[in-house]
Amino acid sequence: MNQSARKPGRLVVVSNRVAQPKQTSTGGLASAMQAALQERGGLWFGWSGKISANGELHRLSAGPIDYATIDLSRADHDDFYAGFANRTLWPLLHYRPDLVDYQRKHLEGYLRVNALFADRLVKLLRPTDILWVHDYHLIPLAAMLRQRGVKNRIGFFLHTPMPAAALLIALPQHRQLLETLASYDLIGLHTARDLRALEDYFLHEIGGAMRPGGRLRAANGRSFRAGVFPISIDTALVAKAARCAETYEEIGQLRKSLEGRALLIGVDRLDYSKGLAQRFLAYAHLLERAPALHRRITFLQIAPPSRGAVPEYRQIRRELERMAGHINGMYAAPDWVPIRYVNQSFPHSLLTGYYRHARVGLVTPLRDGMNLVAKEYVASQNPKDPGVLVLSRFAGAASELEDALLVNPADTAEVADALERALKMPLRERRRRWRGMMDVLESRDITAWRNDFLDALTAAPAPASIAEPASPAASQITLPKKPPDGPPSHC
Ligand code: UDP
Repeated sequence: MNQSARKPGRLVVVSNRVAQPKQTSTGGLASAMQAALQERGGLWFGWSGKISANGELHRLSAGPIDYATIDLSRADHDDFYAGFANRTLWPLLHYRPDLVDYQRKHLEGYLRVNALFADRLVKLLRPTDILWVHDYHLIPLAAMLRQRGVKNRIGFFLHTPMPAAALLIALPQHRQLLETLASYDLIGLHTARDLRALEDYFLHEIGGAMRPGGRLRAANGRSFRAGVFPISIDTALVAKAARCAETYEEIGQLRKSLEGRALLIGVDRLDYSKGLAQRFLAYAHLLERAPALHRRITFLQIAPPSRGAVPEYRQIRRELERMAGHINGMYAAPDWVPIRYVNQSFPHSLLTGYYRHARVGLVTPLRDGMNLVAKEYVASQNPKDPGVLVLSRFAGAASELEDALLVNPADTAEVADALERALKMPLRERRRRWRGMMDVLESRDITAWRNDFLDALTAAPAPASIAEPASPAASQITLPKKPPDGPPSHC
C-alpha cells in the first residue's frame, strides 16, 4: 500500500469543473482524481457547469465519494471564467501577452468566485481533510480559505506552464494575485523550467527568500514548498485500449481509406497555444520541397473546437479552415487530399486506435503545460512497428520524452525536416526511440503522479506549525462584500 493511502483523513479535490459519475468526460486527470478519492474517501468540489441566479449547491454521493457543485450567475461566469481565466490568465500563462485582455471587472469577478468557492467549501470541511486544488482558475483559493480559518494542508497543481517572471510582472495587480500562492503548503508544476520561473518570481520580483530545505518564503512571511510533478497518463490502460481498437469498424475504415499511404496525425483542442497554423505551414513546406511524398502521405488533424465564446478562438478557427483549404487547393489530386481537417471530438478509446495507426504523431504546441496527447500517442504504438513522435520543445512532455524528434514549432523548415526524417526512419531506430519513451511512461504513470503529489503534501509541515502573520497580499485583494468515454477495461 502506498504512503498516501495509509494516511487518515479525506481527500478534498477542488477544481473548476467536476467529473461527476455517469458523465462521459473521463480524461486522465478525472480518472486520477476519481481513483484517489475512491482510495481514501473524499469530496470533489467545483462549478456545476450550470448558470443560475441563486448559486445553488448540488450534492451527490457515489460510494466513498461525495460531489458538491455550485452554479454560477451569468455575471460570475462571464467575468471569472470567460473573462479573467480564459482571456487574461490563459494567454499570459501560455506566453501570449499580446492576447491578454485585462479588465478590472474580470479580476473582481475572479476574486468574487474564488470567495464564493471558499464560503461554500469551508462549511463542508473536516479538520483532518487534505485539500488538493487544481489549476489557474483557483490561484487565490487557499488564501481565502486561510482567511476563513482553515488550517488543513492545501496543495495546488498548475496544469499550465508557469511563464517567465518577466511576463508575470506584466499582469496588472500581479503581486496581489500571485503572492497568494504562498498560502498553499505545496505547489506542483510540470517541469523544472516552470519551477525555476516560480522561484525566480518569488525571489527576484516580490521580495521572497529561499529557506533551508528548499522552501520558498514569501515577503508576507508564509513559506511553502514547490516541486516538479509531471502529470502523466494511465499508460497500461492506453496501450490496452489501442490494442483493442484494432478491431473497431472506424479503424478499419480509416485504414481502407488510406490505401497504403503513411498517416501523420495531430490531435489538439482548437487553441492558439497548440501551434496549428505553424504546423500547417510546416506540412505545406514539406509538400513543396518533397514532391515524391505527394500521394504517399496523409495528414489527419483532429481539432475539436473549444471556448467558442472567446473571439480569439473563433478567429483561429477561421484561419485554420482557410489554411487547410488553401493547402488542399494547392496540392490535392483527384484521388488524394493532403490534409483531412476534422473539427470534431472523438472518444478517447477510438483516438488510441487512430494514434496506433499513424506513422507520425505531430505534437507541436507553441507552449503547453504537459500535452497528454504526446504521451498517449507513444503508449498507443505497436511495439513491433512503432511510429515516431515529432514534439515541440515547448511542451512540458519534451522534458521527459527526449527520444522524440524535438523541434521548435515556429521553425517550419525544422519541423518539415523532422517530418521527413520520421517518415524515413528505419524500424530499428523507431523501436529504440519508442522503447526509451515507453520506459519513462511506464515508470511514471498517472498513479505515480498523484501518489507522489499526495505523499509530498502529506509530508509538508502542518500549516498550524508555520508562523502565519496577517497576509498583506491577501488582505489587499479587493474582496466582494457578498457569487467521450474512457478506454474499455476489456476488448
Ligand atoms: N481528447 C479526446 N477527444 C478528442 C480530442 C482530445 O478525448 O477528440 C483528449 C486527448 O486524448 C487528451 C486530452 O483530450 O487526453 C487533451 O489533453 P492535452 O494535455 O493534450 O491538451 P489540453 O486540451 O488539456 O490542452
